[in-house]
Amino acid sequence: MDQPKTASVVIIGGGVIGCSIAYHLARRGQRDVVVLERETVGSGTTSKAAGGIRAQFPTETEIRFSLESLRVLQNFTEEFGIDPGFKQIGYLFLISEEENLRGFETRIALQRRLGVDVRIITPKDAQAMVPALRVDDLIAAVWGPQDGLAGPAEVTQGFAKRARELGARIVEGVEVTAIDVAGGKVRGVRTTQGDISAPIVINAAGPTAARVGRLAGVPVAVFPRRRHIFFTEFRKEMEQVLLSPGDVEDIGQDQEVPMDWGKLDETVTKAVHRLPLLERAKIAGGWAGLRPLTPDDHAIIGPAPGVEGFFLAVGFCGHGFQHSPMTGRMVAEWIVDGKPSMDLSLFDPARFGKDARLSGDAHKDKPDAE
Ligand SMILES: Cc1cc2nc3c(=O)[nH]c(=O)nc-3n(C[C@H](O)[C@H](O)[C@H](O)COP(=O)(O)OP(=O)(O)OC[C@H]3O[C@@H](n4cnc5c(N)ncnc54)[C@H](O)[C@@H]3O)c2cc1C
Repeated sequence: MDQPKTASVVIIGGGVIGCSIAYHLARRGQRDVVVLERETVGSGTTSKAAGGIRAQFPTETEIRFSLESLRVLQNFTEEFGIDPGFKQIGYLFLISEEENLRGFETRIALQRRLGVDVRIITPKDAQAMVPALRVDDLIAAVWGPQDGLAGPAEVTQGFAKRARELGARIVEGVEVTAIDVAGGKVRGVRTTQGDISAPIVINAAGPTAARVGRLAGVPVAVFPRRRHIFFTEFRKEMEQVLLSPGDVEDIGQDQEVPMDWGKLDETVTKAVHRLPLLERAKIAGGWAGLRPLTPDDHAIIGPAPGVEGFFLAVGFCGHGFQHSPMTGRMVAEWIVDGKPSMDLSLFDPARFGKDARLSGDAHKDKPDAE
């Protein structure tokens, strides 16, 4: 599809976030919405996500985002005509240290108050669920039966398909090379296919968000960090298992992500300790992708400071897939209604101050759930 010369909203990036925003804007009746994707829809870091969805977050805002995702995924096939492959198989966190348990207890109190089904169980209960689990060094486990996983590609395609049906244009193979700003306001974008004038431009560029921010002169505290996932062979007698070393590395780039097979030994050793039966499993392959991290692990959503009409929906760390439904809805409300219906101050783009570039080391060697 050729790109138009004008738009009411230009969205840079056709990942799960950009497509969700396009869908929600179109659903709210916003005309002339254009998504510009330099490759193909969903080919960015969305294609590397494991698909995990959990309501177990530390803040009220993020828990509410997750609960909305669970609701959307339950009704996804009817709403979007694509089966998202949603499986509510639960999340089981294993705890071996007291201090860790205290942290979980505080978060669980908040999660339960907001209606999340989550509980602390004994190591024996955990083993009853996963008989192959080694539990002699555990003090507890946390079980969230509502949690699960779904297909990032299917969900992204669902958003894109309905966005198009509702009138949004999604143009693939076009790169935004400049953002026009005059008098402190966005005027449009320049691309490899020409110019588009637009009063609103949304940065949904995933791991490339900081670079796209610079096109408008806005520092954006998003730091792409590499994460590996290995997978075992799928055999009848053993479910396929995904293994990750939980590494968070700066590989100094935000596009191509080479695999480092040197990570495999350490990953397997850790996994065999927890599930000794994996000693018999064969590693069938793996992949690596970039997680768009921020200094405080929270996304950046809202109007960019200093440039009217420039919006940010970036920095989704290891949870951009699962928070895409609510992000799209909130950004659409912001644009159509002038403000979102929820307090989104947690994601305030101005919270890192003027020099967003200085905070990238906060993530060195920091593991997390996805
Ligand atoms: C190994 C791994 C496992 C993960 N597991 C999970 C998980 O279990 N659950 C979960 O919720 N999240 C997970 N994530 C995180 C998740 O993948 C991201 O948070 C999410 O995909 C971000 O989506 P996005 O749309 O912002 O980014 P992207 O999918 O990267 O989309 C941005 C798009 O912008 C395009 N773009 C960039 N610059 C330009 C430009 N100048 N012009 C035009 N187009 C441009 C890119 O080509 C790209 O397609 C995981 C990530 C990794 C790496």
